[in-house]
Formats: sequence, C-alpha cells, structure tokens
Amino acid sequence: MKQITAILMGIGISLAFAGCTSQSLEGQQEQVNFFGMDTYMTITAYGEDAGEAVEEAQARILKLEKEWSVTDESSQIYQANHSGESPVTLSDDTRDVVSFALEMAEKTGGALEPTIYPVLEAWGFTTDENRIPAPDEIQTLLEHVGYEQVSLSGNELTLPEGVELDLGAVGKGYAGDAAAEVIKEQGVTSALLDLGGNIQAVGKRPDGTDWRIGIRNPFGDGQMGMLLASDCAVVTSGSYERYFIGEDGKEYTHIIDPETGYPVDNGLVSVSIIAEEGKVADALSTSMFVNGLEGAEEYWKEHQDFEMIAVTEDGDIYVTEGIEDQFTLGDSFGNMELHIITS
Ligand code: ADP
Ligand code: MG
Repeated sequence: MKQITAILMGIGISLAFAGCTSQSLEGQQEQVNFFGMDTYMTITAYGEDAGEAVEEAQARILKLEKEWSVTDESSQIYQANHSGESPVTLSDDTRDVVSFALEMAEKTGGALEPTIYPVLEAWGFTTDENRIPAPDEIQTLLEHVGYEQVSLSGNELTLPEGVELDLGAVGKGYAGDAAAEVIKEQGVTSALLDLGGNIQAVGKRPDGTDWRIGIRNPFGDGQMGMLLASDCAVVTSGSYERYFIGEDGKEYTHIIDPETGYPVDNGLVSVSIIAEEGKVADALSTSMFVNGLEGAEEYWKEHQDFEMIAVTEDGDIYVTEGIEDQFTLGDSFGNMELHIITS
C-alpha cells in the first residue's frame, strides 16, 4: 500500500472520492474522503455551511501538497532541492512552513531536522526499497544535514549543494491548521479533520460535548485509549507507522535521529502531542520521539505549552498532568502501566 501511495504521490496525483451528505439529529453533516500528502484524509463538518467548507478545506490541502512534494518536479520544495544553490522564490505558505520548521529545529536542538532527507533516502524510506547504509555512507551524508545551512530571506530560499528539505514531519500539521482556518472562515463551528491520523478538532461536537479522539494502539490494530478534547490538534508519531526489517532481523523506523543518521531506537513506540496548533503538534510529535522519554519529559517541563502521551516498548504509558482527566485507557489495555508526568 505504502508503495502505491508513494507512487501516486510521486506523480502528483491525488484521488478524490465523492463527498457525501447525511442528515442527523444534530443537523447537516458533510464529509469528504480523499488521498493527499501520501495518506488518506477525512474531513467532517456540521451545520448549514458544511458542504462548501469541506470542499474548500480539501482544495486547500491539495494545493499545499503540490507546493511541498519532494517528488513532484513542479513543487517548490523539489525545485529548491534541485536548484544548484540558486535562490528559489516561495509562496507565502511555503515560506511560512519552512520558516516554522527552521524555528522548531532550533527550539528542539536539532531533534526536528528538516534537512534529514538525504539520509532518509539512503535508508530507502523515500522509495520503499529499504536498505541498511554503510556507516561511512551515513557519515558522508550527515555533512549535508543541518538546518543552519538553510538560508531563508523573505520568500527567497537558498540551499547549498547536497542539502535537501523535507517537510514530512510538519507539513500535515500545517495543512491541518490551514484547512481548519478555511472551515472556520465558512462559518462552521464544529468539524473534525483526520489527516492520516493527524487529528484537528474545530470547536466541539455539534451537541456541545468534547470530541472523543482515539489514540492508536502502537502494538496492533485499533485504539489504545481515548482523549476528550476540543479546538486542538492531536498528532501521533510512531515507530509502527512505517518501518522495515533489515537483513539483520532488526526493525528500522522512518524517524531518523539526526545526531547519528540511524533510525530512532530509544525504547519509545509512540508519542502523541496535543497542542493548539497542528503544526506545533506535528513538529513536536516527531522531535519528542527522537528525544526519547527522558528528553521529551525534560522538554515538556521546560515549555509546558502542550500535552503529551508517550508509550514505551515495555507497555508503559506516560501522560502529562494537564490531560490526566481527559485520557482513558481502553478496557483491554488495563495491563499497561499509566504514569503521570508532573511539572
Ligand atoms: P508521519 O508522517 O508518519 O505521520 P511524522 O510526523 O513523525 O510521521 O514524520 C515522519 C517523517 O518526517 C518521516 O517520514 C520523514 O519524512 C521525516 N523525518 C524523519 N526523521 C526526521 C527528523 N528527525 N526530523 C524531521 N523530519 C524527519
Ligand atoms: Mg510529526
């Protein structure tokens, strides 16, 4: 599946499925399901203006995908990555997302590394032809990795030869914010966006209660728990999302530790971030996964402007105190130990 989706993305095709309408006690509900940014997306909105809102939200996301694809030759990111050091003029959206990625890279001490692409490519994550690169190959590629090498001045982006940007860790989050904005501009006050597991909640449910957001089980199918929330983004990064098993029998995940150039292997299986903005939740889900449990706890204690659910390989769950009362573990997860992270 991943291979097919990667190919579709590669040639810049997005499949849009028909939207559907249904009437419920809560009034009109409109939904669109489509393929974008290498994943399946579902946008549901409620109320009179829901139809227009979901259509426009979908269009907004697909437009951003066209600007940011690393494989579509007409995308701004592709052009910057193959510009041979000449400046490329970005749209305001692309400028904003690149500037945000650089800011978060700095804030997380390089755990979020938007220039990790050459290393990701060497591991075959961009083509699904996975392999374990030789240590000296990784070392050589790491010379081209480093957000400090990116120069963004106004809308002009310049990358040194060999440096390549990849918005894989923040793009969906930014797109979720942009789509939620479009929905609100249409006068909709209740909507739920699911961008391949990145959840963005607009307002509350039509009946005025909190959304019930499922947190995926990192060990298998279904959900591990449920979070009550409104007006926020919930984004999860997990080692189970995309990985391969090497010739050595080990599992290698698609999130790379920029310090070593190797896939993260620190005992975490998933990190969910709850934040006001999707782009923040997305950037932090990836970088806190890189940081590991201790590093993530430390970062949270220092900033405390987001909430977090981290799950370890051993089945321990760590939840920050701000969502202790909103998070419930599913019945069949009673054997997992729940720890509260306090400030
Ligand atoms: P997903 O895309 O599976 O929802 P993430 O938001 O965690 O998950 O993003 C992972 C993607 O980010 C990878 O597929 C890759 O494109 C990119 N990536 C991998 N490691 C890093 C890193 N350390 N910093 C920034 N981006 C990364
Ligand atoms: Mg992310």
